[in-house]
Order: sequence, then C-alpha cells, then structure tokens
Amino acid sequence: MEELGDVTEVVREAVEAGVTGLIAMGVDLERSRTAVSLAHQHSEVWAAVGHFPLEPEDPDIDALRELAADDRVVAIGEIGLDFEAVGGVEPARQIERIETFFGLARELSLPVSIHNRGAGEELALAIKRHPGLRGVMHYFALEWDWAERFLDLGFYLSFAGLITRPSRAALREVVKRCPPDRLLLETDSPYGNAHKRMGVPNRPAYLFDTAEVVAELRGLDLHELDDLETANARTLFTRIRR
Ligand SMILES: [Zn+2]
Repeated sequence: MEELGDVTEVVREAVEAGVTGLIAMGVDLERSRTAVSLAHQHSEVWAAVGHFPLEPEDPDIDALRELAADDRVVAIGEIGLDFEAVGGVEPARQIERIETFFGLARELSLPVSIHNRGAGEELALAIKRHPGLRGVMHYFALEWDWAERFLDLGFYLSFAGLITRPSRAALREVVKRCPPDRLLLETDSPYGNAHKRMGVPNRPAYLFDTAEVVAELRGLDLHELDDLETANARTLFTRIRR
C-alpha cells in the first residue's frame, strides 16, 4: 500500500467508505513482513504472506513459514502461476514453487490466494494434488468454464474492478452465476481499477466501484452483498476475528 501514500490515511478512508476488513498481500519476503507489521498497526488490516510468481529469486520458505505463524496472518498469498509475462520465470520453476507453497498452506491450515495468468490447467492440476487445500482465485478474469472448474475444486472466486469494464460481459456472467457462498470482492490495489477510474492508482476505498456492479448483477442491495461477502471472507480466512 506504500504506493498510495500514508497507510493510516489509506486505511482510514477505506473504513470510512464502509470497508470492514482488508488483507494486505505479501509479494516477497520484505513485503510480507510489511503486510504483517501493517496488520499489527491497524485492527482492520490482516496479512497474507507469499511470493509473487514472477519474482526472479526463489522464495525463502523457512522465513515465510516463520512469518506465517503470526496470528495476524490469514492466508498464503500472493502466490500462483504467470505464464504470460515476457521474460518471466520458467514455468517449471513456478510450478515447483507452487507445490512448495501448497504444501506449506496445508501444513499451516491456511487458505491460499492464487494469481493466474495463462496457467489455469497447471493450477487446477496442482490443486488436485493437494487434497484439502482451500483458497481463492484472486482477480478472477476468466469465463464460466474456468470458473466452474475452480468452483468444483472448492475454491472461491474474487472479483475486482475488471468486471466493470464494458468489454467484460463474459466476466459479468460469471459474477451472476457464481454460487453465493463462494463470492469474494477485492481491489488488488494499487492495480485493478474500475472502469470509471482508469489511470489513477486503485485504493481499498474504491472497493465499492466493484461492489455496486456486483450487487446490481445479483439483484442485491449493497448491505446484503456486504453481509454475504463478509461472511464468505470469514469462512475462508478463518483466522480473521471480529
Ligand atoms: Zn495477481
């Protein structure tokens, strides 16, 4: 969140907008540590520890395991597979890392937050190799066939500002069809802006850009969606306390 200026202000404006809880994601060891420290400074913030798939260095699993023992850590993430980046990390190496992280998540009984670009098949196979693994497909951006595959594996789908783009009608279909008990919302701040805010860094307070569209698609009012989404988040991220 440091790209957004003063974190206290970022959290305050999100809470004022109506966000009751935030998860700060870790994309490498240093930022995982930052996420944990933010979670200790702000009662609304929880942390995830992870290692982004395109990080050139391999993750320090022992250090991340140690960090994940902190009671403010609610997930392993952001982890995943990204096969579309130019000059990215070799797919085989990414798959090795995901195996390690899925093992760690099961060992610690933590859910995973998964990034997927062009690697749905490999991710579905990896999830199947880890019975009992729970988690969310973060920034879900694919069509219903893929949604169904990950739902069948017990996973949640998390929707972001992408669903508000005019070109994403197929994704809005997924938002409509997603089972109510598997639906989550996120900003992916500072990325993932809603259509109406293209070009400015995304902020946690802007979650409602996405929430308004999801509520309309599902025929809910914002309060109903809020209750549903909060309950789902607490079911998946079991370490979140009131
Ligand atoms: Zn991602």
